[in-house]
Amino acid sequence: MRVTDARAKGAQSVWKLGGAGSVGSQVLTGLPVLWRLRAAFAGQVAVWPFEAAQAAPVVVTEVFPSMLRAEIAALSPPRHGKAGRHDWPVRDAVQVRMLALALARLAQEGALGGLFDAADPTAPLAEEGWILGAGAEADLRAAARAVGAAALPPQDTDAPATAPHRLTPPRLRNDCFAMPQGVDWVPVEDALARLRAALVPITDTEDLPTAAAGLRVLATDISARRSNPPQANAAVDGYGFAHAALDGSGPYELPLLQARAAAGQPLKGAVPMGSAVRILTGAILPKGVDSVVLEEDCATDGARVAFDGPVRRGANSRRAGEDVEAGGPALPRGRRLTPADLALLSALGVGRVRVLRPLRVGVLSTGDELLSDPGAQAAPHQIFDANRPMLLEVARRWGHAPVDLGHAPDHAAEIAARLDRGAAEADVILTSGGASAGDEDHVSRLLRERAQLSSWRIALKPGRPLALALWPGDGGQRVPVIGLPGNPVAALVCTLIFGRPALSLLSGAGWLEPQGFQVPAAFSKRKKPGRREFLRARLGADGTAEVFASEGSGRISGLSWAEGLVELPDGAATIAPGDMVRYLPYTSFGLG
Ligand code: AMP
Ligand code: MG
Repeated sequence: MRVTDARAKGAQSVWKLGGAGSVGSQVLTGLPVLWRLRAAFAGQVAVWPFEAAQAAPVVVTEVFPSMLRAEIAALSPPRHGKAGRHDWPVRDAVQVRMLALALARLAQEGALGGLFDAADPTAPLAEEGWILGAGAEADLRAAARAVGAAALPPQDTDAPATAPHRLTPPRLRNDCFAMPQGVDWVPVEDALARLRAALVPITDTEDLPTAAAGLRVLATDISARRSNPPQANAAVDGYGFAHAALDGSGPYELPLLQARAAAGQPLKGAVPMGSAVRILTGAILPKGVDSVVLEEDCATDGARVAFDGPVRRGANSRRAGEDVEAGGPALPRGRRLTPADLALLSALGVGRVRVLRPLRVGVLSTGDELLSDPGAQAAPHQIFDANRPMLLEVARRWGHAPVDLGHAPDHAAEIAARLDRGAAEADVILTSGGASAGDEDHVSRLLRERAQLSSWRIALKPGRPLALALWPGDGGQRVPVIGLPGNPVAALVCTLIFGRPALSLLSGAGWLEPQGFQVPAAFSKRKKPGRREFLRARLGADGTAEVFASEGSGRISGLSWAEGLVELPDGAATIAPGDMVRYLPYTSFGLG
């Protein structure tokens, strides 16, 4: 117990971390709040009694509302409302109101400072802290008595006690991307980190012949079954001999064996010391040969070969296993196999590989206005579904198995039915449309109600909104849903930035980051802080980044015109032609 606890009867120790009245855990949860207060009110927050309270506009201090238990008890019995409903639903609410109103009263009377002065100066304040009001109980309780029934929550009567809360519309702005008031924006990096931490890869595997395993993800580490090269061999066309037979620094003249060593046609027998043999690229070095001299550096009459020195021992030859040794590591699990990987595995004698099955990516479009078949006759209010063919193709190019979930009207039950199908047939679902806060946005509403919607306002342009949720499947599985914006431009940008690493992680190939590079801008642009921005861009003939003339997020032609994106940082930026900007070609997102 601290000195102040002895003063405040019934107070729990701030060191108590568990059980009823675990004040200590409240202290811990208060620390981040304090940190935020300090950040928001820099230099204006004092934590009393560790810091002087008198001059600070914001004081954080320990309180103990139960000091007012007698005054609170005096308000009982609690009144009952019309339907017999208790009008005093939360005891702590009354306590807190009473204490707050009592402190406000003392402040009005200019008597608040007395509470700070009441701390026992002989107590080790700097170590133990102090409860505000301990030592000045009489003043605090008098103020509480004066507050009286005003501490009760507003009554549930026919006539509201106070005027109804007025709705404040958001201020209208020209810039429709301006951040709405009172909304917490998730920075891109935080959203990525959250995604990365939340997702778990699939684990089902299958065996495939190496030649059929391109774009698949290795389920195991692969080691070499054979060395590459398996035997020492010639790296050029020329003449082979034993280096030990050369003396002096040349020129040399060696008798030529009437035989030839070629790739696939090894020389039977050995080359005598001091002789040379005709040898072609890829031929195994015959016994008695450790060095090769390049054909162009030689003169020969068919019986002898002459060349100049010096010659390095082992010249123009490849050691057995110099590339990869038998049994050594070839490729790690989690590797998505490239054409070069197929070459490597084949060279190392790996004919079959265990790979993960492809990730099944469901793609669903939503919107009453959508028409699936671009060849169909469209009514004026209809538009052709552009996102679905785009996203299905993206999934295919990334090596996943696309699952077409069709398109659903803005109708919760129909969207839910498609998501149910997606949960059964896919490992992850990409939806587009219906993900902002508008009335028609059934996807986000549905996900909020049924699928633990977890994050959806990302500080990204174009991009917001983005919904991340887990749709419950029949088998108890929870299938990740990435709810993309409806605008095709935003849908693609979000897919590249969030979808690509997320799908890659789910597929077992690990998290991915696009590789961008700095190029001079060919454009001017001024951006405000608070949001990362991606512009549709491509490189001009001089290597500078041009951006698409319009940033309108419905301009699909700009997506097609572009060959990549320019990424502008979260903070404010002013870009003039020639300034370096980060360019991310579509190829760095695995798209040509
Ligand atoms: P939403 O996110 O549903 O509010 O849609 C935003 C905008 O994107 C609207 O103009 C929609 O008509 C459009 N949109 C939504 N889905 C698609 C789609 N699959 N293809 C083309 N445009 C779409
Ligand atoms: Mg819509």
